Amino acid sequence: MSPKEIAQFRNKLVAWFDAHHRKLPWRDTQNPYHIWVSEVMLQQTQVKKVLHYYRKFLDKFPDVHCLAEADLQDVLKTWEGLGYYARARNLHKAAKVIVSNLGGKIPADYAIFRNLPGVGDYIAAAVQSIAFHAPYAVVDGNVKRVVARLFLINSPINASSSSKTFQNMADMLLDRDSPGAFNQSMMELGATVCRPKSPLCVVCPVKSVCCAFQSARQKEFPIRLKPKPIPEYRLAVGVVRRNNRVLITQRKFDGLLGGLWEFPGDKIRAQETPEEACIRQIKEHVNLAVEVTEYLTRIKHAFTHFKIVADVFCCRYQSGEVALNGPVDHRWITVDEIDQFPFPRAHQQIIPSVKGNSA
Ligand code: SF4
Repeated sequence: MSPKEIAQFRNKLVAWFDAHHRKLPWRDTQNPYHIWVSEVMLQQTQVKKVLHYYRKFLDKFPDVHCLAEADLQDVLKTWEGLGYYARARNLHKAAKVIVSNLGGKIPADYAIFRNLPGVGDYIAAAVQSIAFHAPYAVVDGNVKRVVARLFLINSPINASSSSKTFQNMADMLLDRDSPGAFNQSMMELGATVCRPKSPLCVVCPVKSVCCAFQSARQKEFPIRLKPKPIPEYRLAVGVVRRNNRVLITQRKFDGLLGGLWEFPGDKIRAQETPEEACIRQIKEHVNLAVEVTEYLTRIKHAFTHFKIVADVFCCRYQSGEVALNGPVDHRWITVDEIDQFPFPRAHQQIIPSVKGNSA
């Protein structure tokens, strides 16, 4: 595009956004904390789902001080069901840094903000441009798709080696006078018009400069590397009962689902029945001898890089005292207390059976 075409592109895009954007609560605010929370949630999750969690999170933690002072368990409980829990843990950690070291204000400085826990290039550019009008271009999946079609870019959008290419293109297009509005316009265009399948080119405000549209090659772009097949793991999980209480354990704080609570269990080994695996794992992870009394349920869940199928058993405590090997904490709780603890989505599926089994 010539400089004149780029200027026209910006004007048309932002004018379209002004007229057609979806009304979303984080677009009605200049509060950097609210914008930050929304962008963290939106990074891995669809708008429809984020709406509910955004309101719930800000009701509970209305400012960065409230978040910094909150117990991590409360933060995880509020985030429960949204997934990618490292986002919540990092938001909480970053709030503590802001309150302890940065005067309690979200830094209006890209480098300082980018240095906070959990803040990557995308979050830094989004928050700094939208809240503080700083000239940084955001590059998310939507922006990559728009750029790939506008310029017929042959680099796969899901290859890390392509990041620089897309960032350079987004930087080149960025309207430095209105970076926040421009970034939101690009993301909105990708989300609502330049959709992955069936882009709505007829109503697209920038079709006159879009190479894919002009050459009728929209379906060929963006280019993607073929995803690797997703492995499926078989697990066994035990709901251990002792004196009308149920055992739950807490996952270590770093790593997948860190800090969340669950019923003990793990992968089934070759040559092992699910019942044998359940008994072995409970011995290995919490040092208790149990017997399986009945089959409770089967759950399935898909994570980003793998799937699980877990057989869940009711177990009766036999002997031993809890000694943790893997989990960082444990509780013997009544069934009525279960809802106080944040569980990953897979284990939330077990809870109705546990409650029903106690009735
Ligand atoms: Fe996407 Fe079509 Fe617009 Fe090009 S014209 S940016 S392919 S919606």
